[in-house]
Amino acid sequence: MSRVYNFSAGPSMLPVEVLKEAADEMLDYKGTGMSVMEMSHRSKAFEEIIESAEQDLRDLMNIPDNYKVLFLQGGASQQFTAVPMNLAKNGVADYIITGQWAKKAYQEASRYIKANAIASSEDKTYSYIPDCSDLPISEDADYVYICHNNTIYGTTYKKLPNTKGKILVADMSSDILSQPVNVEDYGMIYFGVQKNVGPAGVVVVIIREDLIRDDVMEGTPTMLKYKTQADANSLYNTPPAYGIYICGKVFKYLKQLGGLEKMKEINEKKAKILYDFLDNSEMFKGTVVKEDRSLMNVPFVTGDKDLDAKFVKEATEAGFVNLKGHRTVGGMRASIYNAMPIEGVEKLVEFMAEFEKNNK
Ligand SMILES: *Cc1c(COP(=O)(O)O)cnc(C)c1O
Repeated sequence: MSRVYNFSAGPSMLPVEVLKEAADEMLDYKGTGMSVMEMSHRSKAFEEIIESAEQDLRDLMNIPDNYKVLFLQGGASQQFTAVPMNLAKNGVADYIITGQWAKKAYQEASRYIKANAIASSEDKTYSYIPDCSDLPISEDADYVYICHNNTIYGTTYKKLPNTKGKILVADMSSDILSQPVNVEDYGMIYFGVQKNVGPAGVVVVIIREDLIRDDVMEGTPTMLKYKTQADANSLYNTPPAYGIYICGKVFKYLKQLGGLEKMKEINEKKAKILYDFLDNSEMFKGTVVKEDRSLMNVPFVTGDKDLDAKFVKEATEAGFVNLKGHRTVGGMRASIYNAMPIEGVEKLVEFMAEFEKNNK
């Protein structure tokens, strides 16, 4: 067996410890004589799995009691629809457009409500986070929406926008659990788990209880109503059971590692290795402004398309896979999520230095 260093933006690496445990439990989960894929979501064994997953996530993120945790399906993209349907009481919301995911959320919301794009960094291919200290927040906005970490462009908020009292809703699909978060700064946080937590198919919503309403937008599908899901403790219908089980294992793994403070320390160390290299390289350059650099997604270019392609090809052959950048940025992107070991980044940087030397 040989594992590669997988720099994919998502789905992405999972901790080997978690994969091994899941393999051990595949045929017989804790004496039930079946795998988690085969068991009823109403069984005692699964009840225990989902309850401990929620508790471990609450412990990790210090989620206050007045926030609900929902394990849902439909991916992050379905939340682009669910958020305006559930939260836009006045039918108005403000969106900060820092990349393709934020823009998609804004466009989807625009189908149902008056969505205002109050700031954008599209003018420079989303290579920075706009100044959000004094934005034209709409008087009647039901929420202000951000994408906290921009997976494609490699930027992140170092400081949250001044929402002037409006609730903040954040898509944290690509940086959840990478560092501590003060949940109370948000009305709602959601994340598709396939970037930094588990297998695709689960999206987690963390929402303040008073925002879960029955009088949502006319026509909101039953399944998209947070109230439906909250009242049923995420078991309104069959949940993505196996995915939740793996997420639960990752939560436990992170707790044992020392929690999110420790994870942040590791992620900062890891990202620094790559950024320091980029800042000193004559061939490779980062594509975003330094102040807004993401800890998770690191796009870089050589400035020469053919050289980029040669690099990606040779890197792949050497076991560093999925480094090709997004088509809107070009070049390369290394996604260095929680499960990417430090050695992976150290070895990548060694490989880059060698490539630079050989291709001067
Ligand atoms: C990947 C990603 C999405 C889309 O996730 P899906 O689960 O495929 O819908 C949305 N937002 C962010 C920030 C992402 O990284």
